[in-house]
Formats: sequence, C-alpha cells, structure tokens
Amino acid sequence: MTAVIELDGVGKSYPGGVHALREVSLRVSAGELLAVVGPSGSGKSTMLQLMGTLDRPSTGQVRVIGHDIARLTDRQLSAVRCRWIGFVFQRFFLTSHLTAAENVATGLLYHGTPRRQRVRLATEALERVGLGHRLTHRPHELSGGERQRVAIARALVARPAIVLADEPTGALDSRSGTEVIRLLHELNAEGTTIAVITHDQSIARSLPRRIEILDGRIRHDSGPSRQEVKPARYPQHTGTEAL
Ligand code: ADP
Repeated sequence: MTAVIELDGVGKSYPGGVHALREVSLRVSAGELLAVVGPSGSGKSTMLQLMGTLDRPSTGQVRVIGHDIARLTDRQLSAVRCRWIGFVFQRFFLTSHLTAAENVATGLLYHGTPRRQRVRLATEALERVGLGHRLTHRPHELSGGERQRVAIARALVARPAIVLADEPTGALDSRSGTEVIRLLHELNAEGTTIAVITHDQSIARSLPRRIEILDGRIRHDSGPSRQEVKPARYPQHTGTEAL
C-alpha cells in the first residue's frame, strides 16, 4: 500500500528543553481514516505540524509521499503542502468578506488554476459537502457546522493526498460535530486519506484506526484498518510530479 506519510523515530524539542515528541514511528497509507488522540499537551498538534510539513523534526525522519522533508528547501516544502496536504482547523479560518465559494477557491490560489475553473471546482466541492445552496453566503451567514463544511471543501478542492483535521469538531455543538464526522467518513469512503487530531475519545473510537499519544510518545496504535482502499472518486496527486 502506498505510504502517504511516514514518521521514523521522530523527536521534536522546543527551546527550554521541552520534548514535545519522542521516538515516534508511524506509517499512514493511502485510503486510511485515523485518529491521533491524547490529552492536552500530549504532542498532537506538534505531530500535525510535522505531518503537515509546517515544521521540521529535531530528530528522525518525516516523509510525505516519499519526500524526506528535511532535505527540501522552504520553497519545496510549500509545494509539498500546497499539492498534497489539505488542512482543517478547529476555528475554520475562513475569510470573512469572501463568499463560501470564494473561500473554497482560495484552496486553489497557488495551483495556477485559471479563475473560471477555480469557480467550477469550488462549486463542485461545496456541492459535495452539501452546501450547493450556500455558494454566495459569507461566513457570518452560515452556522458553525456549515462553516466547517466550507473549510472541509476548501481542504479538498485541490484534491490532496491527505487531509489533516485538527480538532475539527472542537468549536461545534454535538449535532454539527456528528455531521462533520459523518462527512469525513463519506469522503474517506470515496478515497480521501484523513487524519483527525482530537482529545475526544468517543470521536477517536468512531474511526477505523486510533493512535493514542501521551507525553510525546505513541502509547497504542490500533494498526491500519484492513478495509479495502477504494479508488479515489477524484484523481489525486500521486507524488510522481517533480517538485
Ligand atoms: P497537544 O496538541 O496535544 O495539546 P502540543 O503538541 O501542542 O500538544 O504540545 C506538546 C508539548 O510541547 C506541550 O508541553 C507544549 O507546552 C509544548 N510546546 C508546544 N509548542 C511549543 C513551542 N512552540 N515552544 C515550546 N513548547 C511548545
């Protein structure tokens, strides 16, 4: 199975002697849906930053689609992020003066996609998350759950190899949170590889693979699910293109 993200003996220290991650090894294959779960301060965000190439490890190796991120220049790292990784954050980070469709289209800004195609792809992505009737709404005209679905559409619009979701239900009421998790399951069933960072054990239990983290170490990994990887509904970036 193709590895999308691999962490090999990864450690991350911050100034002041904080060891946020220690000796973490992990392989995420194409088509997985997994939770990284642990209490506050256990190292989840640090792991997300490394998986998302937002930071580099202090020790060990992080590979994204086979690229050792320590060997890439900042510019190449941005290219990896832009082409292969979609992010969803707890607080959505939508731009308030842009419509839903314009917010989603920003996910294509650095891809050189012509404007007309950006609009079409953004519309399709919003339809996919059930918001085809909210294209011209601005964030303040949407509910929290709808805003998060816009953010998910933005993460998906460039057809990334993996979506990293950091506490995606953390700012939502439980019904909207359940809807968002259901949507992530559906997107995964269509072939998108998804990692959800959460402190919520019940969300983690609802996902096929759980990686439990405590004090910067993996305490338990339920292991890759055996589910058959379905072909992606959308063609996705494979990593064969030059950076
Ligand atoms: P979580 O996401 O599970 O709450 P984090 O990865 O944010 O955990 O943090 C892990 C540990 O690293 C914590 O002790 C935190 O205080 C520390 N930490 C995180 N980021 C920094 C930083 N930029 N500088 C110093 N310490 C940090």
